[in-house]
Amino acid sequence: MTGALLALLLSSAVPCAPIAGGIDARLPLTLLYSEALGPAVLRDEVDAAVSWWAQAGLRLEAGEAVAIPATAALARGSTLAETLAPARQLLSEPDRDARGVLVVLLPRMGPPDAAPELRGLSLAPGGEDGAELAEALGRASWTPVVFLSQHALRRTARGVLPTTLSHELGHVLGLGHVDDEANLMAAGTHRCTPGLTAEQRDRVATEARRRGSAPPPPRH
Ligand SMILES: [Zn+2]
Repeated sequence: MTGALLALLLSSAVPCAPIAGGIDARLPLTLLYSEALGPAVLRDEVDAAVSWWAQAGLRLEAGEAVAIPATAALARGSTLAETLAPARQLLSEPDRDARGVLVVLLPRMGPPDAAPELRGLSLAPGGEDGAELAEALGRASWTPVVFLSQHALRRTARGVLPTTLSHELGHVLGLGHVDDEANLMAAGTHRCTPGLTAEQRDRVATEARRRGSAPPPPRH
């Protein structure tokens, strides 16, 4: 049985908690992948996230994945400006729709010996990295970014569902971690389709409507 088939069977047959629906909002995603990688892993994560969030009533509107120049691994605190250079260039193109969320597939998140090896990392205005990112991007107001590590995603164990991007988008939309492994916002991996509480749904609905309908951030 292939991993994809197993994931499909698990996601369709084994919900581990109810997903609170009815969010009724949309969220554009801008998809970027390091040109050395190809878009396949990104596409799988995006398809999984579109399908998971659709059950909650949030419509993720993903454009075509765009190749960007090969980026170094994201090394926090040292090469953030370099890592974000392609995103900065992309955002500065005149007609680019910078609303929503940037999703960037990197070869890996940190140096090869970094532990723990992160599958995903989200950075949003107001977070602890907000000021540093604003400086790296050269603008006070910026589009939230989700980084995905192809290396870490490919190492994920068999039977684990592709929920990394769904989880990271939860962070971007204002959700923190919860101590319930049946919930999307548990810190670990999922082997059955995770859920969302009504309280989480209400928080996401407010944030998604704000982001989805807001004009692009001002350019500097
Ligand atoms: Zn998390």
